[in-house]
Amino acid sequence: MGKDSEKTTPEQPGETLRCRICRAESEWIEGFMPDTNVVHGPHHVCLSCFLYRQKYRQYYLSWIWWAAAAIAFGFFLSGSIAQAIPFAIGAYVLMYLAIVVHELGHLFAAYAVGVHVPAISFGGGLRAKVLRFRNTFILLSPTPSEGLIIPAYSTSEHFRKKALFITAAGPLANAVAALLGMAALISFGNDLSEHSSAAVILWTVLNACLAIANLLSFSHRTAFGVQESDGAQIWGLRKKSDDEIEEILRQRNVILALLEFHLGDKDKSLAIIENDIEHADDSAVTQSLVTATLAETGQLERGITLGRKYLENEELGVMERAMLENNLAFTLFLTNDDEALKEADRLSEKAFNTLPMVLAVKGTRGSVLIATGRFEAGVALLTDKRFRLETPSHQATVNSIRARGLAQLGNRKLASKSLRAARALDPDNRHLPAAEAALAAMDT
Ligand SMILES: [Zn+2]
Ligand SMILES: [Zn+2]
Repeated sequence: MGKDSEKTTPEQPGETLRCRICRAESEWIEGFMPDTNVVHGPHHVCLSCFLYRQKYRQYYLSWIWWAAAAIAFGFFLSGSIAQAIPFAIGAYVLMYLAIVVHELGHLFAAYAVGVHVPAISFGGGLRAKVLRFRNTFILLSPTPSEGLIIPAYSTSEHFRKKALFITAAGPLANAVAALLGMAALISFGNDLSEHSSAAVILWTVLNACLAIANLLSFSHRTAFGVQESDGAQIWGLRKKSDDEIEEILRQRNVILALLEFHLGDKDKSLAIIENDIEHADDSAVTQSLVTATLAETGQLERGITLGRKYLENEELGVMERAMLENNLAFTLFLTNDDEALKEADRLSEKAFNTLPMVLAVKGTRGSVLIATGRFEAGVALLTDKRFRLETPSHQATVNSIRARGLAQLGNRKLASKSLRAARALDPDNRHLPAAEAALAAMDT
């Protein structure tokens, strides 16, 4: 699959790490998260396994914990299980609303100072529902645990002041909501029914907690890099150099294009980044995104020419080179030309040896193996539950090509199952016809 890269890598030649779960081994050490548990001791888990575990197993576990705690607390307050359950549901709704208030605080502050917000998310956990309002993607996820806005600054003028205002506005919105709750309790606390006053108290407490918690300065490492609390971001602003601010502004287009690539329209993504191609933007992230987008929009010749040119750069990092090799391999695979497939085979093998834990790279390798007649090995690579982490259209591509391989192996049952999954995920996927043809050929 075409895929953009999201990080740059400082190299430490020779050192490799291995994922405890999928056994993938790579010298791209940033592709692993340190982990430890009683059974295995300290070890490493690759980003794909980490993300999969976080999105699925931990997601259900955190739901169970959350519900149990809310019901227990409701039982503690009311003394009856019949009232504990509505309490838990009410707590869920109020918590989610408090997060919406927080993120809307950031959003309206950004609007007020003229900063565009290309994406805002409410809630965390499993796959988000993606909506679009004007030029903003809105991601809705079920757990009342987190939220995020992505501002896209267009000028360095008053950058620090604007950033301070936007960042502080989230906790401030919660503080205002808590104060309103308190004011309501003081003014008509006596007139409120028992349930309403419990709800207002809970609302006040939740908002006060959110305001305070977000102002504390903390950060934690996630699969997408380091995430900082609002407080940490505010502290960090003082130390931000002018160069760092320039860098944030430079990344504006790439961020817009990345969001468009993953959540929206590949053609629009290309349009955004088109300008940067002409200006020979030399950042590896841009090059990787450009080649991925050209492959996805069917501009194969242009993608191949650019991909080869980018790979001539001797100074590419290990990860950047492998991502570009992967993107070029996938573009060559799409041409379905014999000579091109030979080159795709060589490139995808190299990329997969370097980045075996990156799903896009695994997807390309499996696709090329199937296109060059090594059906069993190809199907094995494309049979991986972690592909569920990819967007529906990428999953459909994997399933279509896998169906092709399965049909060639004579496994009609699994081939049609894979094809059905692909159709359901993305009815217009352009890899469907080849899979359908492969299945039809089984009958003759
Ligand atoms: Zn792994
Ligand atoms: Zn915030």
